[in-house]
Amino acid sequence: MEIIFLGTGTSQGIPVIGSTHPVCLSRDPRDKRLRVSVMIRADDSVYVIDCGPDFRQQMLRHPVERLDAILFTHEHADHTAGIDDIRPFFFRQGDIPIFAHERVVRSLERRFDYIFADGDRYPGAPAVAVNLVEKGTPFRVGTHWFTPIEARHNRLQVFGYRLGDFAYLTDVKSVEPEEMKHLEGLEVLVVNALRQEPHHSHFNLQEALEFIEKVNPKRAYLTHISHMMGFHEEVEKQLPGHVRLAYDNLTLTL
Ligand SMILES: [Zn+2]
Repeated sequence: MEIIFLGTGTSQGIPVIGSTHPVCLSRDPRDKRLRVSVMIRADDSVYVIDCGPDFRQQMLRHPVERLDAILFTHEHADHTAGIDDIRPFFFRQGDIPIFAHERVVRSLERRFDYIFADGDRYPGAPAVAVNLVEKGTPFRVGTHWFTPIEARHNRLQVFGYRLGDFAYLTDVKSVEPEEMKHLEGLEVLVVNALRQEPHHSHFNLQEALEFIEKVNPKRAYLTHISHMMGFHEEVEKQLPGHVRLAYDNLTLTL
């Protein structure tokens, strides 16, 4: 299995438009972060988790002919706003399978009504095949079983996903205690760490490190990073050896 970090930035990305913050002006390519997403290549299948506003650019950087599914964590725009750009996949494959909580699907239906329309469809509009994800119910995509992991983004429910010994959690402020059993025995955990200062709906660095200690994976990578976290190179020096900051285009093999 191969994990490709398509984006590791928070909602505005790094650099922030018009910002003169030193991290936004950094020349280190690891300080340039598109909106958060990962691609999972497992056997012959390709999955992405979330489909934010940088989706097109990410798919041009890591071109694949086929997309077997999109798994959504939640409905916020930085995780969903790129869904119109599934069109090239739709033209080749037909309806693109999406997996999400029912609330997320309802939100997408309102905001992208033409994608979900039954009749009188605009020629060229993409279409999706909807699959609802429920807490506590693993689901199969092709030959792979994913386990949803329920967490909270302030008060909003979000799903993380586990495939084999890999788990991906983003936009998390807390994880339900009964969900922790789904995170046992991980090779790689990816989890969000927004910045050094506390935030109402995201783990900050310290909370993410405490969570990693509880989960105890072999390796952990931090994502959904704000420019306020600091320079990639300097932040990494503060981290224990088995915890790294993810960066765009980083590829892991499991
Ligand atoms: Zn987000």
